Amino acid sequence: MIDPALFDIAIIGGGPAGQAAAQQTLAAGLSTTMIDEQARPGGQILRQPPPAFAVKGWMAGRLYRPLRRLLAQTEADARLKWRGATSVAGIERIGDHFRLTLSGTHGGTLLARRVLIAAGCYDMPVAMPGWTLPGVMSAGAVQTMLKSQQVVAGQPIVLLGSHPLLLVLATQILDAGGEVAAVLMPQTYGRMVLAALPYLAGAMFTPGPLMAAGAAMARLRRAGVPLMMGARPVGFTGDGRLEAVDYAWCGRTHRIAAQAAAVSYGFLPQSDLPRQVGAAVRWARPAGGWETICDGAMRSSIPGLYVAGETTGVAGADAAMAEGTIAGIAMAMDAGARAPFDMARAQARRARLQPFINLLRAVADPGDVWPLATPETLLCRCEDISVAQVAATIDRLPAMADASAVKHRCRIGMGLCQGRSCEHALVRRIAAARGCDPDAVAPFRTRFPARPLPFDEIIG
Ligand SMILES: Cc1cc2nc3c(=O)[nH]c(=O)nc-3n(C[C@H](O)[C@H](O)[C@H](O)COP(=O)(O)OP(=O)(O)OC[C@H]3O[C@@H](n4cnc5c(N)ncnc54)[C@H](O)[C@@H]3O)c2cc1C
Repeated sequence: MIDPALFDIAIIGGGPAGQAAAQQTLAAGLSTTMIDEQARPGGQILRQPPPAFAVKGWMAGRLYRPLRRLLAQTEADARLKWRGATSVAGIERIGDHFRLTLSGTHGGTLLARRVLIAAGCYDMPVAMPGWTLPGVMSAGAVQTMLKSQQVVAGQPIVLLGSHPLLLVLATQILDAGGEVAAVLMPQTYGRMVLAALPYLAGAMFTPGPLMAAGAAMARLRRAGVPLMMGARPVGFTGDGRLEAVDYAWCGRTHRIAAQAAAVSYGFLPQSDLPRQVGAAVRWARPAGGWETICDGAMRSSIPGLYVAGETTGVAGADAAMAEGTIAGIAMAMDAGARAPFDMARAQARRARLQPFINLLRAVADPGDVWPLATPETLLCRCEDISVAQVAATIDRLPAMADASAVKHRCRIGMGLCQGRSCEHALVRRIAAARGCDPDAVAPFRTRFPARPLPFDEIIG
Protein backbone atom coordinates (compact mmCIF):
# COMPACT_ATOMS: atom_id res chain seq x y z
CA MET A 1 0.00 0.00 0.00
CA ILE A 2 1.35 3.46 -0.88
CA ASP A 3 0.52 6.27 1.53
CA PRO A 4 -0.67 8.98 -0.90
CA ALA A 5 0.55 11.74 1.43
CA LEU A 6 3.99 13.22 0.88
CA PHE A 7 5.19 14.06 4.37
CA ASP A 8 7.43 17.04 5.04
CA ILE A 9 9.34 14.95 7.58
CA ALA A 10 9.71 11.21 8.26
CA ILE A 11 11.50 10.29 11.48
CA ILE A 12 12.86 6.75 11.81
CA GLY A 13 13.09 5.95 15.52
CA GLY A 14 10.91 7.03 18.44
CA GLY A 15 13.69 7.25 21.05
CA PRO A 16 14.86 10.46 22.73
CA ALA A 17 16.50 11.74 19.52
CA GLY A 18 13.48 11.16 17.28
CA GLN A 19 11.06 12.59 19.83
CA ALA A 20 13.10 15.75 20.43
CA ALA A 21 13.31 16.32 16.67
CA ALA A 22 9.55 15.87 16.24
CA GLN A 23 8.86 18.56 18.83
CA GLN A 24 10.69 21.09 16.65
CA THR A 25 9.24 20.06 13.28
CA LEU A 26 5.68 19.91 14.66
CA ALA A 27 6.10 23.33 16.27
CA ALA A 28 7.16 24.60 12.85
CA GLY A 29 3.92 23.29 11.35
CA LEU A 30 5.56 20.57 9.23
CA SER A 31 3.65 17.35 8.60
CA THR A 32 5.64 14.72 10.53
CA THR A 33 5.41 10.95 10.76
CA MET A 34 7.43 8.75 13.12
CA ILE A 35 8.12 5.08 12.44
CA ASP A 36 9.39 2.61 15.04
CA GLU A 37 9.66 -1.14 15.39
CA GLN A 38 8.35 -0.86 18.91
CA ALA A 39 4.62 -0.61 19.48
CA ARG A 40 5.03 2.52 21.64
CA PRO A 41 7.51 5.40 21.56
CA GLY A 42 10.33 5.63 24.11
CA GLY A 43 13.31 4.03 22.37
CA GLN A 44 15.69 1.72 24.18
CA ILE A 45 16.11 3.69 27.37
CA LEU A 46 12.35 4.10 27.97
CA ARG A 47 11.19 0.84 26.41
CA GLN A 48 7.54 0.75 27.41
CA PRO A 49 5.52 -2.21 28.63
CA PRO A 50 2.40 -3.08 26.59
CA PRO A 51 -0.54 -0.72 27.30
CA ALA A 52 -2.39 -3.53 29.10
CA PHE A 53 0.39 -3.76 31.75
CA ALA A 54 0.07 -1.56 34.84
CA VAL A 55 3.62 -1.19 36.22
CA LYS A 56 4.06 0.63 39.53
CA GLY A 57 7.09 2.95 39.64
CA TRP A 58 8.14 2.25 36.02
CA MET A 59 11.52 3.95 35.27
CA ALA A 60 11.08 6.21 38.31
CA GLY A 61 14.71 7.38 38.81
CA ARG A 62 15.60 11.11 38.63
CA LEU A 63 17.80 10.58 35.56
CA TYR A 64 14.75 9.40 33.61
CA ARG A 65 12.56 12.43 34.44
CA PRO A 66 13.37 14.66 31.41
CA LEU A 67 12.99 11.63 29.14
CA ARG A 68 9.61 10.76 30.63
CA ARG A 69 8.44 14.38 30.21
CA LEU A 70 9.45 14.27 26.54
CA LEU A 71 7.68 10.92 26.12
CA ALA A 72 4.46 12.25 27.68
CA GLN A 73 4.54 15.24 25.30
CA THR A 74 5.14 12.98 22.30
CA GLU A 75 2.30 10.63 23.16
CA ALA A 76 -0.11 13.52 23.75
CA ASP A 77 0.67 15.32 20.47
CA ALA A 78 -2.16 14.55 18.06
CA ARG A 79 -0.31 16.23 15.16
CA LEU A 80 2.30 13.45 15.07
CA LYS A 81 1.42 10.56 12.74
CA TRP A 82 2.77 7.61 14.78
CA ARG A 83 3.51 4.31 13.00
CA GLY A 84 4.42 1.79 15.71
CA ALA A 85 5.30 -1.89 15.34
CA THR A 86 6.64 -1.03 11.88
CA SER A 87 10.17 -1.52 10.56
CA VAL A 88 11.81 0.56 7.88
CA ALA A 89 13.30 -2.05 5.57
CA GLY A 90 14.34 0.24 2.74
CA ILE A 91 15.23 3.84 2.02
CA GLU A 92 15.86 5.36 -1.43
CA ARG A 93 16.35 8.89 -2.62
CA ILE A 94 14.16 9.62 -5.63
CA GLY A 95 14.52 13.11 -7.11
CA ASP A 96 14.04 15.61 -4.30
CA HIS A 97 12.34 13.24 -1.85
CA PHE A 98 12.75 9.85 -0.17
CA ARG A 99 10.79 6.62 -0.45
CA LEU A 100 10.67 4.38 2.62
CA THR A 101 9.62 0.74 2.41
CA LEU A 102 7.87 -0.33 5.59
CA SER A 103 7.15 -3.74 7.07
CA GLY A 104 4.77 -4.62 9.90
CA THR A 105 1.58 -3.00 11.19
CA HIS A 106 1.86 0.00 8.82
CA GLY A 107 3.58 -1.88 6.00
CA GLY A 108 3.79 -0.33 2.53
CA THR A 109 5.55 2.66 1.04
CA LEU A 110 5.86 6.19 2.33
CA LEU A 111 7.20 9.38 0.74
CA ALA A 112 8.91 12.25 2.58
CA ARG A 113 10.77 15.41 1.62
CA ARG A 114 13.19 15.08 4.53
CA VAL A 115 14.15 12.05 6.60
CA LEU A 116 15.76 11.83 10.02
CA ILE A 117 17.39 8.52 10.90
CA ALA A 118 17.43 8.31 14.69
CA ALA A 119 17.62 4.52 14.85
CA GLY A 120 19.81 4.25 17.96
CA CYS A 121 22.31 1.50 18.66
CA TYR A 122 22.36 -2.17 19.62
CA ASP A 123 24.38 -4.40 21.95
CA MET A 124 27.74 -5.42 20.57
CA PRO A 125 27.75 -9.23 20.28
CA VAL A 126 31.07 -10.62 21.56
CA ALA A 127 32.29 -14.06 20.50
CA MET A 128 33.86 -16.13 23.27
CA PRO A 129 33.77 -19.84 24.07
CA GLY A 130 30.21 -20.97 24.80
CA TRP A 131 28.57 -17.65 23.88
CA THR A 132 25.85 -19.36 21.82
CA LEU A 133 24.57 -21.46 24.77
CA PRO A 134 20.95 -20.73 25.72
CA GLY A 135 21.03 -18.50 28.80
CA VAL A 136 23.87 -16.28 27.53
CA MET A 137 22.34 -12.93 26.55
CA SER A 138 23.32 -9.38 25.87
CA ALA A 139 22.82 -6.99 28.78
CA GLY A 140 20.40 -4.99 26.63
CA ALA A 141 18.24 -8.07 26.04
CA VAL A 142 18.10 -8.80 29.77
CA GLN A 143 17.21 -5.16 30.44
CA THR A 144 14.58 -5.14 27.70
CA MET A 145 12.81 -8.11 29.31
CA LEU A 146 12.87 -6.28 32.63
CA LYS A 147 11.66 -2.93 31.31
CA SER A 148 9.00 -4.04 28.89
CA GLN A 149 7.84 -7.38 30.28
CA GLN A 150 8.85 -7.18 33.98
CA VAL A 151 10.64 -10.52 33.58
CA VAL A 152 13.99 -11.42 35.23
CA ALA A 153 15.94 -13.42 32.63
CA GLY A 154 17.15 -16.26 34.88
CA GLN A 155 18.59 -16.69 38.34
CA PRO A 156 21.24 -16.56 39.54
CA ILE A 157 22.57 -14.27 36.81
CA VAL A 158 26.19 -13.19 36.20
CA LEU A 159 26.82 -9.80 34.58
CA LEU A 160 30.08 -9.45 32.68
CA GLY A 161 31.90 -7.09 30.37
CA SER A 162 33.61 -3.71 30.28
CA HIS A 163 30.57 -1.42 30.05
CA PRO A 164 29.34 0.41 33.18
CA LEU A 165 25.72 -0.12 32.03
CA LEU A 166 26.17 -3.46 33.88
CA LEU A 167 26.10 -1.58 37.21
CA VAL A 168 22.74 0.00 36.36
CA LEU A 169 21.38 -3.34 35.13
CA ALA A 170 22.50 -5.12 38.32
CA THR A 171 20.53 -2.68 40.48
CA GLN A 172 17.48 -2.98 38.20
CA ILE A 173 17.58 -6.78 38.59
CA LEU A 174 17.90 -6.45 42.39
CA ASP A 175 14.99 -3.96 42.45
CA ALA A 176 12.89 -6.51 40.55
CA GLY A 177 13.68 -9.14 43.19
CA GLY A 178 16.24 -11.05 41.09
CA GLU A 179 19.46 -12.71 42.31
CA VAL A 180 22.75 -11.38 40.90
CA ALA A 181 25.60 -13.84 41.50
CA ALA A 182 28.39 -11.40 40.54
CA VAL A 183 29.38 -8.52 38.29
CA LEU A 184 32.68 -9.29 36.51
CA MET A 185 34.47 -6.36 34.87
CA PRO A 186 37.80 -7.08 33.14
CA GLN A 187 39.35 -3.66 33.66
CA THR A 188 41.02 -2.92 36.99
CA TYR A 189 40.04 0.07 39.19
CA GLY A 190 43.45 1.58 38.37
CA ARG A 191 42.87 1.35 34.61
CA MET A 192 39.40 2.87 35.02
CA VAL A 193 40.66 5.82 37.03
CA LEU A 194 43.56 6.45 34.62
CA ALA A 195 41.18 6.34 31.65
CA ALA A 196 38.74 8.72 33.32
CA LEU A 197 41.27 11.27 34.64
CA PRO A 198 41.67 13.45 31.51
CA TYR A 199 37.90 14.02 31.33
CA LEU A 200 36.93 14.18 35.03
CA ALA A 201 36.96 17.97 35.44
CA GLY A 202 34.75 18.56 32.39
CA ALA A 203 32.42 15.70 33.31
CA MET A 204 31.67 17.39 36.66
CA PHE A 205 29.34 19.76 34.76
CA THR A 206 27.04 16.78 34.17
CA PRO A 207 27.36 14.94 37.50
CA GLY A 208 24.09 12.95 37.24
CA PRO A 209 25.41 9.80 35.54
CA LEU A 210 28.58 9.73 37.70
CA MET A 211 26.47 9.92 40.85
CA ALA A 212 24.19 7.18 39.46
CA ALA A 213 27.22 4.91 38.92
CA GLY A 214 28.42 5.59 42.50
CA ALA A 215 24.93 4.89 43.89
CA ALA A 216 24.73 1.65 41.91
CA MET A 217 28.08 0.46 43.33
CA ALA A 218 26.92 1.27 46.87
CA ARG A 219 23.64 -0.61 46.26
CA LEU A 220 25.59 -3.71 45.08
CA ARG A 221 27.77 -3.56 48.21
CA ARG A 222 24.70 -3.35 50.47
CA ALA A 223 23.10 -6.30 48.68
CA GLY A 224 26.30 -8.34 49.03
CA VAL A 225 26.79 -8.68 45.26
CA PRO A 226 30.51 -9.12 44.44
CA LEU A 227 31.75 -6.47 41.95
CA MET A 228 35.02 -7.99 40.73
CA MET A 229 37.26 -5.56 38.88
CA GLY A 230 40.06 -7.15 36.86
CA ALA A 231 38.07 -10.40 36.48
CA ARG A 232 38.45 -11.43 32.85
CA PRO A 233 35.66 -13.62 31.42
CA VAL A 234 37.06 -16.79 29.78
CA GLY A 235 33.88 -18.52 28.56
CA PHE A 236 30.57 -20.21 29.32
CA THR A 237 29.97 -23.89 30.03
CA GLY A 238 26.91 -26.10 30.27
CA ASP A 239 25.21 -29.18 28.86
CA GLY A 240 22.72 -27.80 26.33
CA ARG A 241 22.30 -24.57 28.29
CA LEU A 242 24.35 -22.25 30.46
CA GLU A 243 25.42 -23.73 33.79
CA ALA A 244 28.54 -21.75 34.72
CA VAL A 245 30.74 -18.79 33.80
CA ASP A 246 34.55 -19.16 33.81
CA TYR A 247 36.76 -16.15 34.49
CA ALA A 248 40.43 -15.46 35.14
CA TRP A 249 41.30 -13.54 38.29
CA CYS A 250 44.57 -13.09 40.16
CA GLY A 251 46.36 -15.57 37.88
CA ARG A 252 43.82 -18.43 38.30
CA THR A 253 40.69 -19.56 36.49
CA HIS A 254 37.51 -19.61 38.58
CA ARG A 255 34.01 -20.95 37.91
CA ILE A 256 30.74 -19.47 39.08
CA ALA A 257 27.35 -21.21 38.72
CA ALA A 258 24.69 -19.31 36.76
CA GLN A 259 21.44 -19.91 34.91
CA ALA A 260 21.79 -16.70 32.92
CA ALA A 261 24.58 -14.33 31.89
CA ALA A 262 24.30 -10.75 30.64
CA VAL A 263 27.21 -9.54 28.49
CA SER A 264 28.08 -5.91 27.70
CA TYR A 265 31.28 -4.68 26.06
CA GLY A 266 29.54 -1.68 24.47
CA PHE A 267 27.11 -0.75 21.73
CA LEU A 268 27.21 -0.47 17.95
CA PRO A 269 25.48 2.40 16.11
CA GLN A 270 22.64 1.29 13.83
CA SER A 271 24.07 1.95 10.39
CA ASP A 272 22.13 -0.23 7.95
CA LEU A 273 19.73 2.46 6.70
CA PRO A 274 22.29 5.30 6.31
CA ARG A 275 24.59 2.89 4.46
CA GLN A 276 21.77 1.61 2.26
CA VAL A 277 21.05 5.14 1.02
CA GLY A 278 24.76 5.87 0.54
CA ALA A 279 25.48 8.21 3.47
CA ALA A 280 29.13 8.51 4.50
CA VAL A 281 30.07 6.57 7.64
CA ARG A 282 33.24 6.03 9.66
CA TRP A 283 34.53 3.48 12.18
CA ALA A 284 33.13 4.36 15.63
CA ARG A 285 35.77 4.68 18.33
CA PRO A 286 36.62 3.01 20.58
CA ALA A 287 34.01 0.22 20.57
CA GLY A 288 33.55 -0.17 16.81
CA GLY A 289 30.72 -0.35 14.31
CA TRP A 290 29.90 2.41 11.82
CA GLU A 291 28.70 5.88 12.83
CA THR A 292 27.11 8.19 10.27
CA ILE A 293 29.07 11.35 9.54
CA CYS A 294 27.17 14.62 9.92
CA ASP A 295 27.76 18.35 10.21
CA GLY A 296 27.00 20.52 13.28
CA ALA A 297 23.31 20.64 12.26
CA MET A 298 23.08 16.82 11.96
CA ARG A 299 22.93 16.88 8.14
CA SER A 300 24.40 13.71 6.62
CA SER A 301 26.33 13.61 3.35
CA ILE A 302 23.02 12.98 1.49
CA PRO A 303 20.95 16.15 0.88
CA GLY A 304 17.69 16.00 2.85
CA LEU A 305 18.90 13.16 5.10
CA TYR A 306 19.61 13.96 8.76
CA VAL A 307 20.90 11.75 11.58
CA ALA A 308 20.75 12.11 15.36
CA GLY A 309 21.34 10.12 18.54
CA GLU A 310 23.34 6.91 18.71
CA THR A 311 23.26 6.52 14.90
CA THR A 312 25.93 9.25 14.87
CA GLY A 313 28.02 7.55 17.59
CA VAL A 314 27.10 6.08 20.97
CA ALA A 315 26.84 8.97 23.42
CA GLY A 316 23.86 8.36 25.73
CA ALA A 317 20.30 9.55 26.03
CA ASP A 318 21.00 13.21 26.96
CA ALA A 319 23.18 13.65 23.88
CA ALA A 320 20.50 11.91 21.79
CA MET A 321 17.90 14.42 23.01
CA ALA A 322 20.20 17.36 22.31
CA GLU A 323 21.06 16.09 18.83
CA GLY A 324 17.39 15.43 18.09
CA THR A 325 16.58 19.05 18.93
CA ILE A 326 19.39 20.26 16.65
CA ALA A 327 18.24 18.01 13.80
CA GLY A 328 14.61 19.10 14.25
CA ILE A 329 15.59 22.78 14.11
CA ALA A 330 17.81 22.18 11.07
CA MET A 331 15.06 20.32 9.19
CA ALA A 332 12.54 23.05 10.00
CA MET A 333 14.92 25.85 8.96
CA ASP A 334 15.98 24.02 5.78
CA ALA A 335 12.27 23.62 4.95
CA GLY A 336 11.89 27.41 5.22
CA ALA A 337 10.04 27.51 8.55
CA ARG A 338 10.44 30.69 10.58
CA ALA A 339 9.63 29.71 14.18
CA PRO A 340 11.85 31.33 16.85
CA PHE A 341 14.45 28.56 16.88
CA ASP A 342 17.51 28.70 19.12
CA MET A 343 20.04 26.53 17.31
CA ALA A 344 23.01 28.00 19.21
CA ARG A 345 21.48 27.02 22.58
CA ALA A 346 20.80 23.46 21.41
CA GLN A 347 24.34 23.10 20.10
CA ALA A 348 25.82 24.50 23.33
CA ARG A 349 23.79 21.94 25.30
CA ARG A 350 25.22 19.12 23.18
CA ALA A 351 28.77 20.47 23.53
CA ARG A 352 28.52 20.55 27.36
CA LEU A 353 27.91 16.79 27.37
CA GLN A 354 31.08 15.91 25.43
CA PRO A 355 33.49 15.53 28.40
CA PHE A 356 31.21 12.97 30.08
CA ILE A 357 30.78 11.13 26.76
CA ASN A 358 34.58 11.00 26.35
CA LEU A 359 34.93 9.74 29.92
CA LEU A 360 32.35 6.97 29.45
CA ARG A 361 33.92 5.85 26.17
CA ALA A 362 37.40 5.74 27.74
CA VAL A 363 36.26 3.85 30.84
CA ALA A 364 34.19 1.32 28.87
CA ASP A 365 36.78 0.81 26.11
CA PRO A 366 37.26 -2.96 25.69
CA GLY A 367 40.58 -2.24 23.89
CA ASP A 368 42.98 -4.41 25.95
CA VAL A 369 40.41 -6.48 27.84
CA TRP A 370 38.53 -8.32 25.07
CA PRO A 371 37.67 -11.91 25.99
CA LEU A 372 39.64 -14.41 23.93
CA ALA A 373 37.94 -16.59 21.33
CA THR A 374 39.39 -20.05 20.55
CA PRO A 375 39.74 -21.28 16.92
CA GLU A 376 36.51 -23.31 17.37
CA THR A 377 34.47 -20.35 18.67
CA LEU A 378 31.70 -19.34 16.26
CA LEU A 379 32.15 -15.83 14.91
CA CYS A 380 29.04 -15.92 12.71
CA ARG A 381 26.32 -17.70 14.66
CA CYS A 382 23.74 -17.48 11.85
CA GLU A 383 25.88 -19.50 9.41
CA ASP A 384 28.04 -21.44 11.96
CA ILE A 385 31.35 -19.98 10.75
CA SER A 386 34.21 -20.39 13.23
CA VAL A 387 37.12 -18.11 14.06
CA ALA A 388 39.48 -20.62 12.38
CA GLN A 389 37.44 -20.61 9.11
CA VAL A 390 37.43 -16.82 9.03
CA ALA A 391 41.17 -16.64 9.75
CA ALA A 392 41.91 -19.13 6.95
CA THR A 393 39.79 -17.13 4.50
CA ILE A 394 41.53 -13.88 5.40
CA ASP A 395 44.88 -15.64 4.84
CA ARG A 396 43.74 -16.83 1.41
CA LEU A 397 42.98 -13.24 0.36
CA PRO A 398 46.30 -11.48 0.88
CA ALA A 399 46.21 -7.70 0.45
CA MET A 400 42.40 -7.69 0.43
CA ALA A 401 40.89 -5.32 3.05
CA ASP A 402 37.24 -5.86 2.14
CA ALA A 403 34.71 -7.52 4.46
CA SER A 404 32.42 -8.45 1.54
CA ALA A 405 35.25 -10.40 -0.15
CA VAL A 406 35.64 -12.55 2.97
CA LYS A 407 31.84 -12.92 3.17
CA HIS A 408 31.61 -14.21 -0.40
CA ARG A 409 34.30 -16.83 0.28
CA CYS A 410 33.12 -18.27 3.60
CA ARG A 411 29.49 -17.04 4.10
CA ILE A 412 30.21 -15.00 7.24
CA GLY A 413 27.44 -12.39 7.52
CA MET A 414 25.14 -14.10 5.00
CA GLY A 415 22.56 -15.26 7.56
CA LEU A 416 19.39 -13.79 8.97
CA CYS A 417 21.09 -10.92 10.81
CA GLN A 418 22.99 -9.89 7.65
CA GLY A 419 26.20 -9.26 9.58
CA ARG A 420 24.78 -7.11 12.38
CA SER A 421 26.39 -9.55 14.85
CA CYS A 422 29.70 -10.40 13.22
CA GLU A 423 30.66 -7.54 10.87
CA HIS A 424 32.43 -5.48 13.56
CA ALA A 425 34.51 -8.48 14.67
CA LEU A 426 35.38 -9.40 11.08
CA VAL A 427 36.50 -5.84 10.31
CA ARG A 428 38.75 -5.87 13.38
CA ARG A 429 40.26 -9.21 12.34
CA ILE A 430 40.94 -8.03 8.78
CA ALA A 431 42.50 -4.82 10.11
CA ALA A 432 44.73 -6.80 12.51
CA ALA A 433 45.81 -9.20 9.74
CA ARG A 434 46.61 -6.34 7.33
CA GLY A 435 48.13 -4.09 9.99
CA CYS A 436 45.75 -1.26 9.04
CA ASP A 437 43.13 0.87 10.76
CA PRO A 438 39.56 -0.58 10.79
CA ASP A 439 38.50 2.56 8.89
CA ALA A 440 40.59 1.34 5.96
CA VAL A 441 38.60 -1.91 5.74
CA ALA A 442 35.61 -1.75 3.37
CA PRO A 443 32.49 -2.90 5.29
CA PHE A 444 29.80 -5.22 3.93
CA ARG A 445 27.81 -3.67 1.09
CA THR A 446 24.43 -2.86 2.63
CA ARG A 447 21.37 -3.62 0.55
CA PHE A 448 17.58 -3.77 0.84
CA PRO A 449 15.99 -5.12 3.03
CA ALA A 450 17.45 -3.81 6.30
CA ARG A 451 15.26 -6.30 8.20
CA PRO A 452 14.10 -9.82 7.25
CA LEU A 453 10.72 -9.48 5.47
CA PRO A 454 7.82 -11.96 5.50
CA PHE A 455 7.49 -13.59 2.08
CA ASP A 456 3.96 -12.28 1.48
CA GLU A 457 5.24 -8.70 1.90
CA ILE A 458 7.91 -9.30 -0.76
CA ILE A 459 5.53 -10.68 -3.36
CA GLY A 460 2.86 -8.07 -2.43
C1 LIG B 1 19.09 -2.60 24.64
C2 LIG B 1 19.59 -1.26 25.08
C3 LIG B 1 19.36 -0.81 26.38
C4 LIG B 1 19.81 0.45 26.78
N1 LIG B 1 19.58 0.86 28.07
C5 LIG B 1 20.07 2.05 28.49
C6 LIG B 1 19.89 2.48 29.85
O1 LIG B 1 19.29 1.79 30.65
N2 LIG B 1 20.43 3.66 30.21
C7 LIG B 1 21.09 4.45 29.31
O2 LIG B 1 21.56 5.52 29.68
N3 LIG B 1 21.26 4.07 28.03
C8 LIG B 1 20.78 2.90 27.60
N4 LIG B 1 20.99 2.49 26.31
C9 LIG B 1 21.62 3.41 25.39
C10 LIG B 1 20.41 4.13 24.78
O3 LIG B 1 20.09 3.53 23.55
C11 LIG B 1 20.55 5.60 24.53
O4 LIG B 1 21.13 6.25 25.55
C12 LIG B 1 19.27 6.28 24.08
O5 LIG B 1 18.11 5.50 24.16
C13 LIG B 1 19.55 6.67 22.66
O6 LIG B 1 18.48 7.34 22.11
P1 LIG B 1 18.25 7.30 20.54
O7 LIG B 1 17.05 8.12 20.30
O8 LIG B 1 19.50 7.64 19.82
O9 LIG B 1 17.98 5.77 20.18
P2 LIG B 1 16.97 4.70 20.77
O10 LIG B 1 16.44 5.07 22.08
O11 LIG B 1 17.64 3.41 20.62
O12 LIG B 1 15.75 4.77 19.73
C14 LIG B 1 15.88 4.30 18.43
C15 LIG B 1 14.59 3.68 17.99
O13 LIG B 1 14.69 3.38 16.60
C16 LIG B 1 13.98 2.20 16.35
N5 LIG B 1 14.51 1.60 15.11
C17 LIG B 1 15.78 1.23 14.85
N6 LIG B 1 15.89 0.76 13.59
C18 LIG B 1 14.65 0.84 13.06
C19 LIG B 1 14.10 0.50 11.79
N7 LIG B 1 14.85 -0.02 10.80
N8 LIG B 1 12.78 0.68 11.59
C20 LIG B 1 11.98 1.20 12.57
N9 LIG B 1 12.46 1.57 13.80
C21 LIG B 1 13.77 1.38 14.02
C22 LIG B 1 14.20 1.34 17.58
O14 LIG B 1 13.13 0.43 17.76
C23 LIG B 1 14.27 2.38 18.70
O15 LIG B 1 13.04 2.51 19.38
C24 LIG B 1 20.52 1.25 25.87
C25 LIG B 1 20.76 0.79 24.57
C26 LIG B 1 20.30 -0.45 24.17
C27 LIG B 1 20.58 -0.93 22.76
